[in-house]
Amino acid sequence: MAVDSILSSPLGPPVCEKDAKALRFIEEMTRNADAVQANVLAEILTRNAQTEYLKSFDFDGATDRETFKSKIPMVTYEDLQPLIQRIANGDRSPILSAHPVSEFLTSSGTSAGERKLMPTIKEELDRRQLLYSLLMPVMNLYVKGLDKGKGLYFLFIKSETKTPGGLLARPVLTSYYKSEHFKTRPYDPYNVYTSPNEAILCPDSFQSMYSQMLCGLYEREQVLRVGAVFASGLLRAIRFLQLNWQELVEDIRTGSLNPKLTDPSIRECMIRVVRPDPYLADFIEKECSKENWERIITRIWPNTKYLDVIVTGAMAQYIPTLDYYSGGLPKACTMYASSECYFGLNLNPMCKPSEVSYTIMPNMAYFEFLPHEPNSTRDSPSRLVDLADVEIGKEYELVITTYAGLYRYRVGDILRVTGFHNSAPQFQFVRRKNVLLSIDSDKTDEAELQAAVERASKLLREFNTSVVEYTSYADTTTIPGHYVIYWELLGKDDSGNSPSDSVLEQCCLAMEESLNSVYRQCRVADNSIGPLEIRVVTNGTFEELMDYAISRGASINQYKVPRCVSFTPIMELLDSRVVSTHFSPSLPHWKSGTRNDVARGGEIKKIRE
Ligand code: AMP
Repeated sequence: MAVDSILSSPLGPPVCEKDAKALRFIEEMTRNADAVQANVLAEILTRNAQTEYLKSFDFDGATDRETFKSKIPMVTYEDLQPLIQRIANGDRSPILSAHPVSEFLTSSGTSAGERKLMPTIKEELDRRQLLYSLLMPVMNLYVKGLDKGKGLYFLFIKSETKTPGGLLARPVLTSYYKSEHFKTRPYDPYNVYTSPNEAILCPDSFQSMYSQMLCGLYEREQVLRVGAVFASGLLRAIRFLQLNWQELVEDIRTGSLNPKLTDPSIRECMIRVVRPDPYLADFIEKECSKENWERIITRIWPNTKYLDVIVTGAMAQYIPTLDYYSGGLPKACTMYASSECYFGLNLNPMCKPSEVSYTIMPNMAYFEFLPHEPNSTRDSPSRLVDLADVEIGKEYELVITTYAGLYRYRVGDILRVTGFHNSAPQFQFVRRKNVLLSIDSDKTDEAELQAAVERASKLLREFNTSVVEYTSYADTTTIPGHYVIYWELLGKDDSGNSPSDSVLEQCCLAMEESLNSVYRQCRVADNSIGPLEIRVVTNGTFEELMDYAISRGASINQYKVPRCVSFTPIMELLDSRVVSTHFSPSLPHWKSGTRNDVARGGEIKKIRE
């Protein structure tokens, strides 16, 4: 097969035989999407025929789609939670999967305020690895010469815990970075990182970030791409540089290592990296001490061809800030994945963020699609559509059946079909269902926000004051970003006993205490979310908001106060009515692992208006 025509790249054939093989694989999978899907389903059902779960539906060892579709229900995490809990408690019988559960992956989605636990099996690592191995061959079609330099990627592990039954519970990327697949990956000239494994694998996030940044600075001329998993992670790295450049410069000038780097494996590795380079130190000092940090990425790493960060979905809110720091470098969104399953990749990674479509790889799992009609309550599994049968322009909710033992599981993502690559559909990520606010990996839904407002407003009772209306906004013009909640208050007595600034500050904290554990972990351990802010608006503001919506065509009968806003004129209206602003005075409670903060000090910084 002629591989150079595979991805309609303007740049011609694959750069090496390894890439050609990867591209052939993509081609083969996408050409035969439906047949691959049938095989995947049969394989999953065959091997798991004796599981408690499948047996409970009288499945009788069937492996065909029709029986599967007629007998197996569509489920959510909550439906599976009792079974997952049994596995977590140490039940090793084949409950969901015939293969032993090797660990739990902690999703950033929450259930009852806590992270979801996704059971996984060992061989899933191979599948994830396979998807990763396709990314650079595609990128090499669009960007030439990536073998002539390195990637500065800020990658981190997070704390892990053990379930009562002794299985590890940790984020999927922590699991991957700690695996032999990653640690002993073969040398690939097109995929060399500036960060040594020791720096990525250091559990202390300050030392990890510091050493990765130091390596990136030493190798500034070689860096051809700069990245992190999500846009928020790259911005945290820039903020880290703002806070710590003096110490980094000192190390570079003297060739010594900051005594804050205490981890023995980091020290041993970094001692081989540091060397006195006064010229470089002067340069970094000159750039970082300037008041204006616009284009700092291209000033420090002048050969950067693109940023490798996901800016689709909730991360789109960071595009203006990334453009500010990078002078508008292309932003490559390479893949679409979750703790439950890695889904697919972007075959045109240098396209604009608004045009990103992910091609779901049919070998990764069995995929079905629930037509998404916002006000429909007909969530019957009979309406599920197969991968090869989705229609261009329509929106669907993603439903997966995985090798690890999730059957017709609702991921919660809404996708829109934009086209096909061969017979495999391509999807734009539209949004996550029910997520109102997100800054980093946190996801806050309407019910959680409502509960938080209710909890905080209890503090106003003694002042005879209530919250009559509220809405929210994810403010990403600060680093880290933070939640802003607009409150319209009603005081019911005229005695002048209104809530003071410190009471409203306590309201901010009470809201944070009420939010889910991922939010609180981002706030406390990762410092990737700043203190929550309440902006009190004048009486009548929400009525004005309604008038505005009606003037733009909303129906007066059906009007509902939006619980989250982002449309500029509405923001301007709200902000013009603000009478006071209040920030959470301290960190909410979070049961910590062991790690230190990346950016010590809780202050947030305004980057742009
Ligand atoms: P987690 O299970 O915590 O890894 O979160 C997975 C979720 O992150 C997915 O279900 C999506 O909602 C979101 N996500 C992952 N990759 C992308 C992407 N490329 N674009 C937009 N959202 C994404």
